[in-house]
Amino acid sequence: MSTGSGSWTHGSALVGEERDGRPGGVAAGDATTGGAPVERSEWTAAGGDLVAAVDFGGTKIAGALVDGSGQVYARCRRPTPARADAETIMASVAEVVAELTAAPQWSRVRAVGVGSAGPIDAVHGTVSPVNVPAWRGFPLAPRIAELAGGLPTVLTGDGVAMTAAEHRWGAARGEDDALCFVVSTGVGGGLVLGGRLLPGRTGNAGHLGHITVDFDGEPCVCGGTGCVEQLASGTSIARWARENGWRPAGEDASAAAVAQDARRGEPVALAAFDRAGRALAGAIAATATLVEIRVAVIGGGVAAAGEVLFEPVRRHLDDYATLSFARGVNVVPATLGGDAGLIGAAAAAAVELSL
Ligand SMILES: [Zn+2]
Repeated sequence: MSTGSGSWTHGSALVGEERDGRPGGVAAGDATTGGAPVERSEWTAAGGDLVAAVDFGGTKIAGALVDGSGQVYARCRRPTPARADAETIMASVAEVVAELTAAPQWSRVRAVGVGSAGPIDAVHGTVSPVNVPAWRGFPLAPRIAELAGGLPTVLTGDGVAMTAAEHRWGAARGEDDALCFVVSTGVGGGLVLGGRLLPGRTGNAGHLGHITVDFDGEPCVCGGTGCVEQLASGTSIARWARENGWRPAGEDASAAAVAQDARRGEPVALAAFDRAGRALAGAIAATATLVEIRVAVIGGGVAAAGEVLFEPVRRHLDDYATLSFARGVNVVPATLGGDAGLIGAAAAAAVELSL
């Protein structure tokens, strides 16, 4: 896995050999995946240890203590001063951590899971969230580890964190080969392969929002062209609809308003979601062809559009995933809602540390 050789370290040396000595890892043999009963770790046992989770995003910083069943304690949050200087932003993170360490359950905390908007570098514990310009290579994980008294700390990208949560407790539970998407203002994702979370070398694997599906498409913030995110994010859906003549009935001109009109059969709104669904289908088909996933989970605010989004995804997927082994991927909505990133940061840390 990823955090093995960094200069900051939550202790990959501490966990590395033990972890590597367990074939299949925690995710494959975990009791929550519906397989045969296995030994329960302290974290998965009721009333046992907790993992502290911090989820850093462009609009909010959320914190909680999480147990092995995904139960959340001592929930707290602060707005992200996204346009402030680096230390002002860090001060808000520190307030969240201080609230967690002051919680009565803190003595049961064994590790810290940090989820962040990407890109991230899990090797060095640094983050460079696209929408937080003052943080480029900012050492978020080591700083949080210090505030948390030196507990083992694992940094995970938000897409991978959501995937960890959906795999452990949500729509991908019990699945060995799954792709999870977060479709909101941007598009993120993560992979489970062979029953294990696949964060990749730097923690960004499965980031399907930035693979090209339209070679003649628009330039993307990432520097690429025609990325999935350029067609399927909520921002892109709303913008494309407006550019093509859709007008919101009221003040709300978001993708949710486009979805509402699509449900009523408004043709431009329908076309906007068809375009988004097609982009996601292209990414799912490519993934199914590459690594034989069996399920694709779609979460995030845009997934709340329901069939308006899922119907075109499934229809286009039939056109793009054509080889026998890639056909029949089950496309399902995420089940954990807005907490997936937060509890997923804890789940990813538990996987990494074999808790
Ligand atoms: Zn891109």
